[in-house]
Amino acid sequence: MGRMTRRRFLGVMGVGAACGLGVAAGLLDRRWWEREVAVGSPRPTPSPPTRWSTEAEYYTPVLEEGTLNCASCHGGVEPPLPVAYCHTPHTGTYVRCNLCPHGCFIAEGERGQCRARENQGGRLFSVVYGNPCAVHVDPIEKKPFYHFLPTAAAFSLATAGCNLRCLYCQNWQISQFPPEETRNADLPPEEVVRYAQMTNAPVIAYTYSEPVVFYEYMLTTARLAREAGLLNVVISAGFINPEPLRELCAAVDAIKIDLKGYDEEFYREVCGAELGPVLEAIRIIYESGTHLEIVNLVVPTLNDDLNQLRALSRWVARDLSPDVPLHFTRFHPQYKLTNLPPTPVESLEKARAIALEEGVRFVYVGNVPGHPANTTYCPVCRRPIVVRQGFAVREYHLQGGACAYCGESIPGVWWPGEPEGEPVEVAPGPPDQ
Ligand code: SF4
Repeated sequence: MGRMTRRRFLGVMGVGAACGLGVAAGLLDRRWWEREVAVGSPRPTPSPPTRWSTEAEYYTPVLEEGTLNCASCHGGVEPPLPVAYCHTPHTGTYVRCNLCPHGCFIAEGERGQCRARENQGGRLFSVVYGNPCAVHVDPIEKKPFYHFLPTAAAFSLATAGCNLRCLYCQNWQISQFPPEETRNADLPPEEVVRYAQMTNAPVIAYTYSEPVVFYEYMLTTARLAREAGLLNVVISAGFINPEPLRELCAAVDAIKIDLKGYDEEFYREVCGAELGPVLEAIRIIYESGTHLEIVNLVVPTLNDDLNQLRALSRWVARDLSPDVPLHFTRFHPQYKLTNLPPTPVESLEKARAIALEEGVRFVYVGNVPGHPANTTYCPVCRRPIVVRQGFAVREYHLQGGACAYCGESIPGVWWPGEPEGEPVEVAPGPPDQ
């Protein structure tokens, strides 16, 4: 197959199609497609693991029957729980996954909460390796990254599964299903890099569902991509343990964290996760020097309390840095929260005003195309320096990372001169969380 332009690639991909094999299959040349036999078809539990399985990193193997006791799962509970409390009989071999704070104990043949990691014979396997269910080329602004190579095309992919359960998930059709129930492509890491190069995308984005659950696939791809001169960005909810996160930070160039709210109960009841580990993850990313942006999707009545938004903004400005870009984005009724209205634009504007009051220097309103707060303003001379319209950049007044008007240094990863990205002429892929 000859060199493919991005325009031709997008034509093959089926521009604007929903995520799924119809899109992903566009990546595959005919020869490859013919030898592909099981893409997207349900398949039995991997025993031995399938070609899309690889041994997981970060787990404690083989907790033999007899070595488990109540404290193994319910450690620290006082008074000790009676044996009858246990929800499953502890027979066979268990493994404990240490990738995310859920710390799933997984019985033989079972999977963790994310549906993407499975215990086979006392070893834990990722079962989504090289098997994405969504592949698109998106503008980097869609992620959103506003301080990272404006206009760059991002070769974006996701697999099935997620370790959260957000009731308003924008991508529940892929995040809340195991890989047997999504339509997938066969795209090993070296092919991801090859297709990113063929489409002239300087960036690979791990996004859409939750990249934590395809950690091994992401990490291997990111390392290969870096060797090939490409950049890597991650769009995540940040529910990951410190050790794997530090390893990830060393392999990628930017991470956007979806900070769901600033309230434990909201995290627990609406998202099926915990706030504390996410804040810790954000702090680790910031301290690693990896470029960081934070998004808070404001959901009417659930996380739009102004005191909560003030506390979130204050935490960003004081515990991290006033220079971390903060985006307040608009909720649209989705999944299990179709009873709620879209976020009023005034709520987002109030959130932005509060964050600016608290000292955050770059605060954006998202999912509201054409809003003045899509623009980056110089915090010193107040002039617009990156003007966006939807996912496009209309004006760019930065020179080597400094305001072209007053010379103030603007935090981020910028082009040395004019933006070098080609316009991405495509109805973009699924929402990036
Ligand atoms: S990554 Fe998946 S299997 Fe591992 S602890 Fe988290 S939810 Fe459980």
